[in-house]
Amino acid sequence: MQRLSRRHFLAGAGAMGTLRLAAPALAQPGIRRLTILHTNDIHARISPTREGLGGFAHLASALNRERAKAEASLYLDAGDLVQGTPVSSLYEGVPIFELMNGLHPDAICLGNHEFDYGWRRIYDYLKVSRFPIFCGNLVGEGGAFLTPPPYLIRDVNGVRVAIIGLIMESLDKLTYSYNLSPWRVLPLVETARKYISQAKSDGAQLIVGLTHIFPKEEEMLLAALPEMHLIISGHDHGGMKTLLRDGNRMVVRTRPNGAELGRVDLAFDLAKNQVVDIQWNRIPIIASEIPAEPAVAREVASWEAKVSAVVDREIGESKTAYTRFQMKDVVERAMLESLGVDFAFVNRGAVRAGLIVGKIRARDIWDALPFGNRVVFGKIPGAKLPEAIRKSASVEPDRIYSVATIDYVAENQREIGTEGLQFPETGPFLREMMIEWVSKRKIVE
Ligand SMILES: [Zn+2]
Repeated sequence: MQRLSRRHFLAGAGAMGTLRLAAPALAQPGIRRLTILHTNDIHARISPTREGLGGFAHLASALNRERAKAEASLYLDAGDLVQGTPVSSLYEGVPIFELMNGLHPDAICLGNHEFDYGWRRIYDYLKVSRFPIFCGNLVGEGGAFLTPPPYLIRDVNGVRVAIIGLIMESLDKLTYSYNLSPWRVLPLVETARKYISQAKSDGAQLIVGLTHIFPKEEEMLLAALPEMHLIISGHDHGGMKTLLRDGNRMVVRTRPNGAELGRVDLAFDLAKNQVVDIQWNRIPIIASEIPAEPAVAREVASWEAKVSAVVDREIGESKTAYTRFQMKDVVERAMLESLGVDFAFVNRGAVRAGLIVGKIRARDIWDALPFGNRVVFGKIPGAKLPEAIRKSASVEPDRIYSVATIDYVAENQREIGTEGLQFPETGPFLREMMIEWVSKRKIVE
């Protein structure tokens, strides 16, 4: 990935018309200024990425600096805090929530990846977190909440702000059923409407949706809920290429991995009971330019040291640079060679990073394959092999082929346009297979 320069960032933000230099706040009676800082999809990047972006200690400093500049502020995170690094995988996400305490969020909403280590693990997240984790449209038996309450109200500079947590309607399609049961998702618009009206009767003046939803759902909420002033979103990793705005209402979302901190500056007119100005800026978290906050840095270092022995060993060398999407082919090649099958397939979403030219450490494979996916095997007649698996190979319709894929694909066959294929045999963890493959062949090219 190309390193984001400040110049690029400013040019991009300016082109979108969202950048405005902060004018000195003139005291206007009845106008209250508040700032909402936000992140999403941090994916356990407690240390800066290979591109030198993010890292909890740098993010903590940036948050402190922005808080100091604001009259009053909140910091909200829109979910998918865990899954993506060895510290998360080895300790099932718990240290990430613990470390998040050092960033002092006011609230976090659940993302789909918070279910990756099973829904019971979320109780452990609640235990170690000194901030609320919530989600208003996820209920169990009798309407019980996994993470009560469904919304929060905070007084920010004399404005009562309601924060309503919401997750995508298709959560069950993104999560293994055993990781999600017995919880189910309620429809977004209808549920949000109910809590907006409850929050208003509790005296809320400014309504913020803290959501982990698809871009289509962001548009839907913006259109359907005129009383929701601001939607802080997460899940999509593309950043906001075009600003989604309706008058003084906005949807905001940052790039993933802690690479950006979002900052929304609002002016709220108490007499009119409405937002009279809203500005959105994104602050790139360039680790070399933002000093690390020492206390958070110490905590991060101590967790990194615990996993270092496992992941910082050199296992081989890459002669070629692979993008994340090219890495999918490398993984499938490794599966074919390691497992001795006719076809191998992983979904694009299973592979999260590529390789750079040079030494390969086990950590790089953890970065590429952060999920604890297991290989599964099936015997499938040529006629039933979907194109995604078969690719350009010609197959005989009646011949039985051996196919290796991962448990996620076996559970979500609709994603590759098929259903009902059987993968009864379980193999190794994909990541371990991959580490062994690199260790054996030494050179990847
Ligand atoms: Zn997500």
